[in-house]
Amino acid sequence: MKPFSSEIISWYLKNKRDLPWRNTKDAYLIWLSEIILQQTRVDQGTAYYLKFAEHFPTVKDLANADNDLVMKLWQGLGYYSRARNLHAAAKTIQTLHKGTFPDSYEDILALKGVGDYTAAAVASFAFNKPHAVVDGNVFRVLSRIFGIATPIDSSAGKKEFYKRANELIDKKNPALHNQAIMEFGALQCKPVHPDCSVCPFNANCFAFTKNLVSVLPAKEKKTKVRNRYFNYIVFHYKGTIAINKRIGKDIWTNLHDFPLIETSEALTEEQLLSSPEWKKMIGKNKYVVKSISSSYKHILSHQKIYARFIEIVCKNPLKNNLPKELLIIKENDIYKYAVPRLVDLYLEKKK
Ligand code: SF4
Repeated sequence: MKPFSSEIISWYLKNKRDLPWRNTKDAYLIWLSEIILQQTRVDQGTAYYLKFAEHFPTVKDLANADNDLVMKLWQGLGYYSRARNLHAAAKTIQTLHKGTFPDSYEDILALKGVGDYTAAAVASFAFNKPHAVVDGNVFRVLSRIFGIATPIDSSAGKKEFYKRANELIDKKNPALHNQAIMEFGALQCKPVHPDCSVCPFNANCFAFTKNLVSVLPAKEKKTKVRNRYFNYIVFHYKGTIAINKRIGKDIWTNLHDFPLIETSEALTEEQLLSSPEWKKMIGKNKYVVKSISSSYKHILSHQKIYARFIEIVCKNPLKNNLPKELLIIKENDIYKYAVPRLVDLYLEKKK
């Protein structure tokens, strides 16, 4: 049997997908693709990568961009802290590194929003530095082939997998090796029902030979999911509406949505419209309820959000009666603002 790295590289050369960020050595574009692909499928991420690369062909273009435009272009991709960090890191490269993308693993790791995985990916793909990438695909491949049962979400597990990945890397071809192992995990050694009968490792793969493919890799904790109930109030007054720019540390920072009453459980319409929170939100406004939407479900990694939109028509100008921090805009201007996917779906349905 060939050494691990040669085997996986020859599999890669026969099976790899042609993806746009694989045809460049530009560290900025590689970094952009890696940030976009965190927690995003390749088919969804590709369109965003092409859009960002077109709007901001260089790190300088991204650094000088308006933050609202960056957020608007990111709209729909989720995990918005990635967009904020991307923009902040571009500014750091522009000022601290004089616009040249840093080529050392440590300097790349120091950029905002860059963790071990992304630093290793950019250092190896762009500069051919021998740092092994370890992402979900790599955990799975190593765990199954070598029978590593230490939980991948434990600190002992992380240490063990990083050590093994760095021992296995082909020091002469780190970029190719890293691309190969990730692609192998994405296309061949898939999370469920991999086709082991056509796998080049099947004769020696620990998980396959011991019938443990569905058991490996092991995880320690189950993610706790919190349910949240968002009651959005869409205030209308003579062609204007009120919107809210989200600030603080909760989800969707810097995106825009509507004034919100959040509850920890689902309320009936009667319960909501007679609650103290509703009375406080409405203030002195005289209004009629125009419509109440059905519930929109939105799933994030640790939260499930159930949202509904209550449209009310006010009899007084909004500016006089609503909190000052809300923005009063023309109804159609809402489409110019970056909004969470959930709000976007609602607006699309109303069109
Ligand atoms: S034999 Fe199956 S489990 Fe083992 S590496 Fe190949 S695809 Fe993965």
